[in-house]
Formats: sequence, C-alpha cells, structure tokens
Amino acid sequence: MPTPERIIGFAPGTERKLADFAQVTAYFKALAAASPRVRLYTIGKSTEGRDMILAAISSEANLQRLARFKDIARQLADSRGLTDAQAHQLAHEGKAIVWIDFGLHATEVAPAQVASEVAYQVATSESDEMRRIRDNVIFVTVPVMNPDGLDIVSHWYRSQLGTPYEGTTPPFLYQKYAGHDNNRDWYMQNLVETRVITRQLYHEWYPQVLYNQHQSGQTSPRIWTPPMDDPVNPNMHPLINRGITLLGVGIQERLEQEGKIGAEGFSQYSNWWNGGMRSTPCFHNIVSILTETATSRLATPVTIAPAQLPRTLASGESAREPSTWNASPWPGGTWTLKDQTDYIFSATMAALRLGADYREDWLYNRYQMARDQVAAGKKGDPYAYVIPAGTDAQRDWPTAVKLAEILRMGDVEVARAKTGFSAGGTQYAADSFVVLMAQPNRGYAKDLLEPQHHPNRTNGPGGPPKRPYDMAGWTLPYQMNVRADAIKTPFAADLEAIADVQLTPDPAYEHDRRTNLSVKLAMDSLKRGAKVGLTPLQFITDTSPGIAGQLPRALHVPRVAVYKSYLASMDEGWIRYVLEEFHVPYTSVENKDVRAGNLRTRFDTIVLPSQDVDAIVNGHPAGTMPPEYVGGIGFDGVAALRTFAEEGGTLVAIDAASTLPIKYFNIPVRDALDGVRNTEFYCPGSLLRMKIDTRQPLMAGMPAEQAAFFVNGRAFDLGARGGRGGEAGGEGGRVPEGVRVLARYADRPDDVLMSGWINGANRIAGKAAAVDVSMGLGHVVLTGFGVAFRGQPHGTFKFLFNPILESAAEGAATSSSPRGR
Ligand SMILES: [Zn+2]
Repeated sequence: MPTPERIIGFAPGTERKLADFAQVTAYFKALAAASPRVRLYTIGKSTEGRDMILAAISSEANLQRLARFKDIARQLADSRGLTDAQAHQLAHEGKAIVWIDFGLHATEVAPAQVASEVAYQVATSESDEMRRIRDNVIFVTVPVMNPDGLDIVSHWYRSQLGTPYEGTTPPFLYQKYAGHDNNRDWYMQNLVETRVITRQLYHEWYPQVLYNQHQSGQTSPRIWTPPMDDPVNPNMHPLINRGITLLGVGIQERLEQEGKIGAEGFSQYSNWWNGGMRSTPCFHNIVSILTETATSRLATPVTIAPAQLPRTLASGESAREPSTWNASPWPGGTWTLKDQTDYIFSATMAALRLGADYREDWLYNRYQMARDQVAAGKKGDPYAYVIPAGTDAQRDWPTAVKLAEILRMGDVEVARAKTGFSAGGTQYAADSFVVLMAQPNRGYAKDLLEPQHHPNRTNGPGGPPKRPYDMAGWTLPYQMNVRADAIKTPFAADLEAIADVQLTPDPAYEHDRRTNLSVKLAMDSLKRGAKVGLTPLQFITDTSPGIAGQLPRALHVPRVAVYKSYLASMDEGWIRYVLEEFHVPYTSVENKDVRAGNLRTRFDTIVLPSQDVDAIVNGHPAGTMPPEYVGGIGFDGVAALRTFAEEGGTLVAIDAASTLPIKYFNIPVRDALDGVRNTEFYCPGSLLRMKIDTRQPLMAGMPAEQAAFFVNGRAFDLGARGGRGGEAGGEGGRVPEGVRVLARYADRPDDVLMSGWINGANRIAGKAAAVDVSMGLGHVVLTGFGVAFRGQPHGTFKFLFNPILESAAEGAATSSSPRGR
C-alpha cells in the first residue's frame, strides 16, 4: 500500500514542508488504485479549473453494496413514505455516512496536509478499532475543499522559505473572489466550489454526520471543539445540538486519553448562524461540527511563552486553571505542524469511532428529524411561503427567480403555481413560487425566508455584548428585495414541483432599471456595439421599439477601477464577483497605479472596497513582507484620488473605506459611530431598514425602503468638516450644500432593525446611510454598509451599479443638482 511519504515525498506534518494540490491528488489516486477499500471521485472544477476530488473509504464488503447504503441514507433523509418501523429497519441495515473534509481555509494548513494520512490509516490499518470503523461507517472525505487556495498558500510558503518572510501569509486572497469568506457562502452559493460540495451533500451522499476542519490563532486553545456556546438557532431540530455535543465530548475525551491536552469547548462558537460549512447542513438535519486547532506560522513552528496565553476565559474564569470549558489548559511551549496534524488526526478518529459506535442512532435520527420537520410544516404557521410572480408583485422579478434558484440549490422543495390561487386572503398569479413547509428541509427554508431575532446577550447587565459567531440576521427576501409572503394556514393551489429554476426572458423587465438584470443586459448591448441610453426608469437601446435614433443620455462602456490592496480585502473580491456577474467591466488598480495619478483620463469611477483606511494608505509595514508588497497608496495616492474626483470622476467609498474621504477630503460628513463604545451601540451583522431618496439619479430603480447589510458599519453626520462636529443634519437638520443624502436609516429606533440584532439603534436612527458629496467637477459616494457584502445583498447592488452608470452617461458631471463649491 502506498504511504503518503512515498508518494508525496515527505510525511504529512513534516516541519517546513507543505504538499500542494497535485501532490495530495497524486496520493489519493495511488491509494484508490491500490486499495479495494477506497473509491475516488472527481466531483467538479474549482474556480481556477482544478479537479476537485472526493474519496469514499469503507470495508470491501460495504463498498460492494455502496449503492444500497447510499439509497438507505437517501430514504432516511427524506422520511416521507416510511413508517417508524421501516425506518428502524433501514437504520439497522444501513451504514453511517460520516463526511469529513479538510483544507477549506487555505492558510489553516494542517488539515489538508493530514488528510492523506487519515485516508491511509482508515484504508489500511488492521487494528480492532479501525475494522469496527470500516464495518460500520462509510467515510466520505474531501481532502482539499479549496484546491486553488492550497496551491496559492503552499507555493507562497515555499517561495519565502529561509527568507525573513518565512511563515507570512500571502498578500492575495486564497480564493479568487472570497478568500476566507469561502466559508460564508453556504446558503448563497456564489462560488463554484460551494455548489460542487453542496451537490455532494444533498444529492449524492446524504451524510448523517459532518465534520469540517479549521484552525485558529497561535495562542488559542490547542483545539477548540464542541459543545457549542449559546444561542442555538430554533430552526435546527434539537437532535442536531444533542449530536454535536456527543461528538465534541467524545473528541475531547479521546484527546485526553492520548495525552493531547488543551481542548476547550462550550465557548466562542455559537450555533445561531446559517451560512458556514458546519452550520448550513445543521438546517438540513445533518449533525455538523467544526474544530479549530491552534496554528503556527504555516509550516514553521512557534514557541509560545506562558505569559502570551490568555489569562481568562470568555466566562471570566481563569484560563490557566482547569475548568469545565477546558480541563487541561496548555501551559505554553513549542507548537509544530506535527502537533497540529496529530491533534487533527486524533479528533478525526474520534468522530469516525463515534460514527461507528452510534451507527444506528445517526441513521434513525436523520429520519426522525425529517419526519418531525414535515409534521411541523403540515401544522402551519407558517404553512408555506409564496414568492408572487410578475412585475406587479415584484419590483425585480429576475432577482425573485434568483432567490428561488438559491433555495433549490440548497435542496429546498420549490413548486410553481400552474394557475392563479388565493392564500392567506391574497390572490396570487400563475407562475408564483410556493415553498410548502411540510418538507424535510423545512428548518432551512424557514431560516432563510423569515426574519432572525437574535437574543440580546451581554456579559452582565449593561455589560459589553457577547459577540455572535458571524452574522446575527440574513433574511434573503430582505437582502435581495424580493417579496416572499408567509402564509400561516393551509390553502389549495395547483402546484408542480420544479427541479431547476429558469427565468423566462420578458421585455417587460429587461430594460426596467428596477431590475438588476437590466444592468447586465445594457452592458451586453454596449459591448455588442449597440447604442444604449439611460433614463431614471429605463435603459433604452437603439433597437427598442419606437426609439428611432432618439436616445436620451447615451451611455458609453463604463471605465471602472477597483482598488486592490496587498492586505487582501474580501470585499474587493466580492465587488469583482458582482461586477463580473452583471458583466460590468473593470480594471483592478494597485497601490502604484493609484500613486501614479492621472486617474481621470483612465477611469470614470473608482471603487474603494470596504477596508480599514490605514490599510489602504499604509499597507504592510516595511520589514514584514517582501518589499514589492510593502506600503499602501500613501498620501500621494490619497491626493491622486482627490484630484480624480475634482476632475470629474466618481469615487465610491464603501463602508470602512468611507473613512478615507471623511478623514482626508475635508468634506462636511463625519462618522457618527466613531469612538462610540460597544455598550452604547452594537450591530455586528444584521439587516437594517433604510429610507431611500428615490428622486436622486444615483438611486434610480431603488424602492422607497431597502435593507442594508450592516456589519459594524457606519452612519453619517452631516455639516461638520474634518471629523468632530455637532449633530447638524443628523436629525432632519439642514443638509450642507453639495451633499445629497441617498439613504437614511429608519427614523424611529425601534423601526431600524429588520433582522438580526442591534443594541443602541437610537445612535443611528434617522442618520444618513449613504451620501453623495460634490468634489469639484466630480463627486464622492460614501456608504455606511457593504453594498455587495459577500455577493449577497442583491437589493443594494444598485449602490454600486448606479454611480458607475451615471459616470458613464452623457452629461454625467452636470446632470444632478448643483455641484461645485
Ligand atoms: Zn477556518
């Protein structure tokens, strides 16, 4: 049997050695070729075209009956058509399908390195335990979830080995668009990797247990494992969190048995969020966990002094003494890649062993969860969601279709109404989408369609907030500005299930600026050489009926720059993603391009993605990275951006980047939340209500009200130049000359939150959420929220598109209300 060392050239975990994707793939091919206990599948292509692989490992006998075991898993996952007794029989006959994946976050290097060793041992070891695992479990493993990222990181590491920069992380995103956000994409499925894996989970293997490997900081607990922290999302079946606890405690016990101290649980990672590789499957009745093993400097060891370790746990108890959270705190010392691969190996074995020991329970539980979800859906409240069809009911029907497609990709059953029908006292047209709640993935559908009400959690009364893990709210109809009505009670309608959602082309919306699709079609027309004009309501092409050459405000192909930092910004990647999805051309500009100036001759619009202003201006400090990646745009770059605007350009500064014009351009805008403590205002990831000034050309096509995806964002006070100032303009006061408020947060504090969690809404109620500020012949657009956050909020993409369109339309610099100073 080929060992990893023989095929790869070194043993996984060897100091200062990282296998790349070709090496890991070569190993799995060799193992599958040699072992009748391993089957290897190519499951799709990564963003940059690498073949993603998945292996199924079990006993020879089980693999011979693999089709039967997959079918049992599929039947139990659905539950409909089975009695409890039949389900027990199937659970008795079946094998536990345990999914364990590695290498999702590419700078967390150890998991992808140890995956080969895990596969080798599970396939070849003749220990009693391993036989028990092979007999009872079908181990489904993806050794590298992000193949492009493994190559980016391993090749960077090798290139810096032996230099002063050994162990630094690459100055690029390790997934073309998402970087670390590749684990924030699991309901939206913007990335091809997410879609490839999702298909395997929900349409191919139907695992009962899932384990997603991660790593945390150098001074974190040696490994974080479940049990989870509060809160628990009520849309998960209770058996999910029971199962998670069982796995976590089992992992901790095994590590302790093997002398691997320092495992911590019950802390930090809550089970509220939807959207991660370990959380989205929980809403699909799959018991899903993550662990977080401490890192070093990629494959380079670190030595941690005791004093560097945290003194207290988040609970306030000592982190240096045994506690319920961590019965054996690590005292510090050297921490190598081998330490990490050893911990991950043991934790993986614990999960497989528990998979074997509780085989029948895992199988039956998956049935029970599906059964209970179907029953709850039949009871109603809600009974269904209806996404009404047509351009009367939906401002942006193509985006409503996109929402239905997202639900389908996540294995939500979606039906189409063949005829009009009445539900909940409302009449709906034919072609409306209906999501009946009586389905196994009810919890998932409900969670995406309804508003979240995250509990207000603080450390003591009035104390600092307890940070949620990632977002607190994400309601898709709000983010995407799609109407989806909850129907509480049963109704009759002539429905047909749909496999793939298709958008029927229709001139009624194709030129309508209320739709995002119209932007894409206008770009296509321009690129074809057609003439396209712009009104506040429509795109008009020279082929539109009744136009005959009378084009209003002609558009040219927009000349857009997107700033790209060597402190890689995920928002930058997502903005590129959204522009590409809607066929808006752009050029990435780096520090030297900005510093060189003369930007107005090259561009109409420059986009500054959300990024800390010091990161933009100063970049990596000298001595921390190879010289070509050091520094930012500098003050020359700041001046060049200012000149760009003054010469008629449009600068769009998103969320954190809005601090740049506020700090350096002497505009009458300041950040109302600057310096506000988190005990007074806290909103870590929620959907907030904005009122839009639809008369503004930059808000063409927008509704009067729209949700903003607010993630520790901003609100703007107007009237005070250069930072500190009064409240002028904030609460309905005079708006300074040359400033146009595009959107405000809702006036009443209790009206601001749409979904998620906010503390201190009075701090931002009624304040500007987005402004357009004149600068010489041009202007600067500032938003206090991420307009293209993770490629998700389709409802605010126009905050990106419209400034670009305006800047590329005839008469751009003089078209709206008076500018200049
Ligand atoms: Zn991670």
